[in-house]
Amino acid sequence: MKMITYNTKNFRQIEYLKFLPEETRKEIELVSRVLPFKTNNYVTDYLIDWENYANDPVFILNFPNREMLREDDYQRVKWAWENRVPEKEFQRVVNKVRLSLNPHPANQQSNVPKLNGKPLNGVQHKYRDIVLFFPSQGQTCHAHCTFCFRWPQFVKDLDLQFQMREIDEVTDYIRQNEHVHEILFTGGDPMIMSPATIKKYIDQIFKAKLDNLDTIRFGTKSLTYWPFAFLPDFSDEAEDMLNLFRQIVDGGKHLSFMAHFNHPQEMDNSAVQEAIYNIRQTGAEIRTQAPVLRNINNSSKIWRDMWTQQVKLGMIPYYMFIERETGPYYYFSVPLAEIYEMYQHAIKYSGSLGKTVTAPVMSASQGKVQIMAVVDNPADGKKYFMMQYVRNRNVENTYKPFFMEYDEKATWFDQLKEVEMNPVMANVSG
Ligand SMILES: *Cc1c(COP(=O)(O)O)cnc(C)c1O
Ligand code: SF4
Repeated sequence: MKMITYNTKNFRQIEYLKFLPEETRKEIELVSRVLPFKTNNYVTDYLIDWENYANDPVFILNFPNREMLREDDYQRVKWAWENRVPEKEFQRVVNKVRLSLNPHPANQQSNVPKLNGKPLNGVQHKYRDIVLFFPSQGQTCHAHCTFCFRWPQFVKDLDLQFQMREIDEVTDYIRQNEHVHEILFTGGDPMIMSPATIKKYIDQIFKAKLDNLDTIRFGTKSLTYWPFAFLPDFSDEAEDMLNLFRQIVDGGKHLSFMAHFNHPQEMDNSAVQEAIYNIRQTGAEIRTQAPVLRNINNSSKIWRDMWTQQVKLGMIPYYMFIERETGPYYYFSVPLAEIYEMYQHAIKYSGSLGKTVTAPVMSASQGKVQIMAVVDNPADGKKYFMMQYVRNRNVENTYKPFFMEYDEKATWFDQLKEVEMNPVMANVSG
């Protein structure tokens, strides 16, 4: 385990440059004109092994590289860059590439609910019992992940679709929809907000006295990208943050910190481990989730190590996702069949308490679909995926197994062929 001995208050984006060859630096600069790029000194000083940066999982997670763009797109941007075309023309080239990267998968705009006939931009309500809230001050992160499905939100001209400053409308909405039991603060990363800002939202929620609201969740990658936010020895605001967590727990709500970890390397230092300890001391639970990513974590050993380590540190494995079809998807995607086999291998050997994970799961337009099994049908000699919705727009459609035709190469749900006589699919296709 690495000991962390300092932090500097300001995010720096420069220091890493000295480790990289000229050519690589240029490539990063170029690709980051298309895909959002942000790093900081904690990531560069403690998480990346610079001796071996090209294969380092955190380097790949945080630094764009040229293979994340299709070769012809890369060449197009490079040409415009090297020929110093006017900025406006350059932006046009860049935006064309961005739009070809499927910026809005799974039609998320359709999840925006209405309050008294007016759309609540900044909220998504897809599943019966939970609403997502996108606070406007939380729509960036301490650093950005190269695979992120929310990448268009970090790009100015691809409009930021979801954000809201007012929480009163959200609390009214929760009151009017009594089956909503949970609110999930998301982003970006809500933990980029100061504790004072988060406290304003939390105070409003408590002031609203919502009896139907049991749980407050924060979806965040701050434990990987800025654990200092929870370390009073390093940050003046950390104590306020931890007190805020205590306030939520003492106020009688369950606080679930939905932590995003992509690789065991992110958990292997004193800063993150102390941060985990401090958060748990407040009475909050930490649940973990992440997608499977080629070039970063597509091995059963990595997942087994990750779950084992998480349990040891007091966290609860929650979801293993399948990477969505957006951004540099070709670079990261892994066939469903391969993911299932990898998962099966990983879960078998990961110890009893790692088995709380729901996996592998795709967030598709109708809901979260889990691959439950690959089965051989002796009647026709063919293979099938057995699946179920663990979440669906219509709760009636959850936890009903159905079959899809096996396809060795498919990387997403909508590439699979349906099988006739599926009771669930008959209701939900389209
Ligand atoms: C994943 C997700 C949630 C949370 O789902 P849980 O299964 O409760 O963790 C809520 N809303 C949307 C739109 C989601 O995609
Ligand atoms: S921390 Fe989360 S929201 Fe931010 S870039 Fe990474 S995956 Fe996306």
